[in-house]
Amino acid sequence: MASAPTTYAKMEEVGTGPHAGTAPTSARCAACSSCSVCRASVGAGVIVAGIVAAVVVVTLFSGSGAAEGECAWDNYRLPGWITPTGYSVQWTPSMSAGGPLTGTVVMNAKVAAGGLGCVIMHSQGFAFDEVVYTWTPKDSDSVQTATVKTSDVIFRPANQQVAIPLGQRLARGDSISMTIRFRGKMSSTLNGMYISQGVNEATGQPTDPVVVTQFEATYARKAFPCLDEPEFKATFDISLKDIPAGLTALSNMPIKSQVASANGEVVTFNFERSVPMSTYLVAIVVGRFTATWGTYISPLDASRRVNVSVWAPPGNENRLNFALNAARKSLAEYESSFNVAFPLPEMKMAAIESFAAGAMENWGLVTYRLTALLADPAEASQASLERVAVVVAHELAHQWFGNLVTTAFWNQLFLNEGFATLFEYLGTNASNPEFDVWSEFLDNDVHKAMRIDDLAAVSPLVNPNVDSSGAVESSFNDVAYAKGGSVLRMLWKFMDSSPLTQGGGADDDAGGDDAGEPAGSAFFGGLNAYLTRYQYSVATADQLFYELADFSGWDDLAPNMATWSKQPGVPLVMFAWENGDNTDPSVTSGNLCISQRRLWRSPYSRQLAGDGEFGNDQLYWIPLDITMRHPKGSAARKVATRLVNGGGFSNATYTCFAHDTLVQGFVKANANSYGYYRTAYPASVWTDIRAAVNASTTTDGEPIFGAQDRAGLLDDILTVAETQADAPDPDSSSLRASVEPATSTSFATALDYMKTLRTEPEYTVWRSALTHISRISANIYPQATPGSNGNAPDPSTVPCVGEFNDYATYIMTPVVAAIGSMWGNASVSVSAKDVVLPADAPPEAASILARWRSSSTVDPAVRDAAIIGTAASLGFPTVVQRCNDLWRSGVKNIDPNYLGAVASSYVANGGYNGWEEVRAAYEAESEAYSKNLLLRALASATEPAVIKMTLNYTMSAAVDQQDKTTVLSGVASNPAARALAWKFITQDDVWNELEDLYGSGGFGWSSLIKSMASHFVTDAWFNEATAFFKGADLDAGASDAAQALEIVKSNVVLRQTLQDTGCPWLATWDA
Ligand SMILES: [Zn+2]
Repeated sequence: MASAPTTYAKMEEVGTGPHAGTAPTSARCAACSSCSVCRASVGAGVIVAGIVAAVVVVTLFSGSGAAEGECAWDNYRLPGWITPTGYSVQWTPSMSAGGPLTGTVVMNAKVAAGGLGCVIMHSQGFAFDEVVYTWTPKDSDSVQTATVKTSDVIFRPANQQVAIPLGQRLARGDSISMTIRFRGKMSSTLNGMYISQGVNEATGQPTDPVVVTQFEATYARKAFPCLDEPEFKATFDISLKDIPAGLTALSNMPIKSQVASANGEVVTFNFERSVPMSTYLVAIVVGRFTATWGTYISPLDASRRVNVSVWAPPGNENRLNFALNAARKSLAEYESSFNVAFPLPEMKMAAIESFAAGAMENWGLVTYRLTALLADPAEASQASLERVAVVVAHELAHQWFGNLVTTAFWNQLFLNEGFATLFEYLGTNASNPEFDVWSEFLDNDVHKAMRIDDLAAVSPLVNPNVDSSGAVESSFNDVAYAKGGSVLRMLWKFMDSSPLTQGGGADDDAGGDDAGEPAGSAFFGGLNAYLTRYQYSVATADQLFYELADFSGWDDLAPNMATWSKQPGVPLVMFAWENGDNTDPSVTSGNLCISQRRLWRSPYSRQLAGDGEFGNDQLYWIPLDITMRHPKGSAARKVATRLVNGGGFSNATYTCFAHDTLVQGFVKANANSYGYYRTAYPASVWTDIRAAVNASTTTDGEPIFGAQDRAGLLDDILTVAETQADAPDPDSSSLRASVEPATSTSFATALDYMKTLRTEPEYTVWRSALTHISRISANIYPQATPGSNGNAPDPSTVPCVGEFNDYATYIMTPVVAAIGSMWGNASVSVSAKDVVLPADAPPEAASILARWRSSSTVDPAVRDAAIIGTAASLGFPTVVQRCNDLWRSGVKNIDPNYLGAVASSYVANGGYNGWEEVRAAYEAESEAYSKNLLLRALASATEPAVIKMTLNYTMSAAVDQQDKTTVLSGVASNPAARALAWKFITQDDVWNELEDLYGSGGFGWSSLIKSMASHFVTDAWFNEATAFFKGADLDAGASDAAQALEIVKSNVVLRQTLQDTGCPWLATWDA
C-alpha cells in the first residue's frame, strides 16, 4: 500500500511454530499417512483409493466432542494443515453500504498434514448456509463428496477463524475441495468489500455508489472464507453476479465472459483465472467509470505489448493521462531493471472516492484515492503531479516486490514496502525525470525513518512479535516503508561500489549520479536471482540476503545485514580525540578514534530500552565511506580519500588513526548520506566541516559537499543536540545525566551551525531545516495544562519564543528574499531569473539567487512553497500580507503549488471570517488535490473558538471518512491547538465514533493516535495521556500510543535542554 497524504525456503509443508504440519490428535497418522490403520479410523463407508473417477457420497461421524478435538486450534496464525491451490469465488454484492453480501467459494487444496480431520479457515462476519466438500485420495481419481452440517462449524471470532470438522481424517497428499455458501454484509468501514460514495460538488447529492475491495492486510476474510495469510498463494477464478446493467466491473484479470439476465437488468461477469497470488491481492471494483487506455512495449520482448488503463469517476476525463504515462514508463523501467517481465496481460488502475490508504497494489487492478491518481497538468500543482507519479511508481513496483514475491508474513513487511519505497524513485525518475526525485530520498525516507527509529518503542525490520490483526496493521509503519527503503538503498550503494562484490566499482562517483544503474549492478543482479527463485511464492529477509550474497560473492552480506534486519534502531558513529578533548576547538591534532552505539531520542528512551527486548548494546555493520579533504584547497587540489575503502565496521570501536585537521582538513563519514546512521565529530572537526560547507556556496566550481552531504550534516548535528545523544548513563532521578565528551554537541553549537543556512540554496537541505525549525518551535511554544480550558497561553509572554522566532527569521531572510515577492499567482510564471532583490536584501540572498539561476534541476514551486509556508508561520510580514492578497484574489487565481501555504496562513491569521471563507472554498472545490489542501488548511486555526469550529466540522458529514483523521492529526500538531484537540478527541462520543470508524487499523488511525499525544511537552501531559491510553480501546494503535508517550517524555527532556542551553544562546547570539 501507499500511505495516506501525505513483501526461508519456499513455503514448507512441515515446519515449526504456528504452522506445524501435524493436525491434532493424529500424530500417529502423520507418521504414516498412508498406512491402513489410519485410513481405517476415518469412519464407516470411506472408499479407499482405487475406484477410478467414482463419486461416492459417504456418511461421516459428526458433531459432538470429536469435532472440537479434531478442530482444536487456538492461534492467531493458521495451521499449515492444508495448502490451497485455487479458489473460485462468486459474489453477489450490494450497491448500498451495509447491504447484504452473499457468495459461494470453492477452495481446492492439498492436504499437507496427515490425519487431517478439520479445516481451519479465516472468515469474519459471515454465516454459512451450506458447507460441502469433495476429496480425492492421493494417487487416485476417486472423487468423494461429503456434507458438513453448518451447525457443526465452529466460529472463533477472536481469531477471525472458522473450524470445519470433516467427520473423517484425510491423508497427507490427498486433495480436498471445499464449497461454502456464505452470507454477510457489505463492510461499513473502508476495508473488506465496501461502498465508496462521494458528494457531487455541483448538486450536493451523493455520487453513484462504487463497490470496492481493500483486502490488505487482513480483510479478505471479511469478503469470503479463505486462508488469509500471504504464504497461502492460489489461483483465483472470480465471478460477480447480479451486477446492474450498465456498470463497469473490474477485477485482477480481464473479463472472460459476461452474461445478461433474461430481462437484461443484471449481468454476471466472469474473469479469467489469475496467477497464483496471496488473498490480500484479490480485488474487484464495480461502478460507473470513465477510462483511458494505452500500452507499453516490453523492453524484454519487443513483440509483447501490455495494456494499461486508468479508470475514474465520470467528469475526470482530463485527469487520466498523466497517470497512464507514468504507469507505462514505470512498468517498462521495472521490466528492464529487474529483468523480469510483468506477468499479467493488462494493468488497470482505478480512482476511488472513499479510500483509506493512498493506494493499494492489487495485482493487475491497483486502486487509488483520487488525489493519488488523477491530475491534469493544465490545472494541477507540481506537488500533486509528483505525488501521482510517485504513488503510481510505488504500486507498480509492488507488482514484483510484494505480488510476484511476497513477504512470508507481515512481520517482515519491508520485503514488500521497503522495496516499493526504494523503487518508487526508480520508476518516477523514469517517467518524470524533471522532478529529480532521488534528491528527495534523504529527507522523505532516511531522515523520516531515523526520526522514529531512535525510540525504544520501535520494532526491527523483521519483527518477532506480530501475533494479532492489530499488530499486523501496525506493521504498516515508517520502519517497514522508510527504514526498509533506506537500508536497502544503503546496501545497493555499497554493493555497487565495493570491491567486495562482483560488479563493484560501477558507481563510485561521489558526485552522485543517483539514477538507477542496473547494468553490471551486483545489487540488481542479486535481486533478479531473488525474484526468479521465489516468484509466485514467498520469501524471508534471510532468503533475500542469501540470494544477494550468492550472486555477488560477498560472503559476509547475510550476517552483516542481519544487524539491520533483526535489530531496531539507528546507530550513531562518533569520531573522538583519544585524549577526550572533543569540545575544545583548539585541539586540532592527535589520535582520532571511531566508535558506534545506538542513538536514543532521549535518555528516557535509553532507560526504557534497557528494560526491553533489544537492550542498549546493539552494534551494526556500518559502511563508513569516509572522506578527508582540506577545506582551504581549491577544487583541483582537493584530496579525497576513502579511509575504509569499501568496507564497514561492526564493532563497538574501530581503529584510531593520527590526524591533524590543520594539515589534512576535515574527516567526514557517510559520503552522499547513503548510510542509515548519524555522525558526531569533535569541535575542531566541526569547525573545518562548517568552513567547507560555507566554502561550497561561495567559490566557483564543484561544491566541496553536495546537497545530500549538507543535508545529512545539518540533520545530524541538530538531532544529536536535540536527542542529547551524549548521556550514556542516565541517573533515574535525573534523566539529564553526565555528558560523554566523545559526542558532545551542545544546542548552542548546533544552533550556531544553522547559520550556514543563510547561504543555503538547496531544497534538500531546507527540507531538513524546516523540520527542525518546527520541532524546536513547538517545544518552546506555551501549552495549556491538562484539565484547563485548553486555550494555549499567549506566546508573547513566554521567554525564548520570541528569541527563537527572531533567530529562525534571521536564517530564513535571505532565502525568502531570493524567492521574491511575485510568487503564488496562477497566471504569472516567475522564475529565479525574474526576481529583483530589494535594496535591503542581505548579500546572502544574491548568492542564493545566483545558484538558483545557474541550476536546472531544482523544482522551484515545491521548494518555494515549502519555504513560504514556514515563513508565514513565523510571521514574516511581507509573506503573510502576500498570502492575504492572494487569497482575496480568489482560489482560481492562486498557483496551486502555493494554495496550501496561502490558505493555511489565511486561516491562522484570519479569525472566524478567514476560516469561513476557506471552508466555503473547500466545499465548492471540485479538484481533489486542491480540495484536500483547503480542508487541511482549516487545521491551522489559532483562536480557540475557531479551532473548535475546525474540530466540530471535521466530525460532521461534510468531511469524508477518509479525511477526518488527517484534519484531526493536523489540529493536534498545531502548537496553539494541541490541548483543545486532545480535549475534543477524548470526549466519549467522539472517541467512540473514531474507534468504530478506524480502530481496526490503517494509516489514519496510526497517525491520529500518534499525533493526538506526541506534541505535548510536559510530565503532566505525559500522565494525562498515559491514563487515557490505559483505559482506551486502541486496537491497532497500541504501538503508536507507546511511541507517542515516549516522544512526550523525550519532549520534556528536549524542552529542558532548550531552556538550559538553547535559550541562553538565543538571547545572546551574534549574527
Ligand atoms: Zn506499498
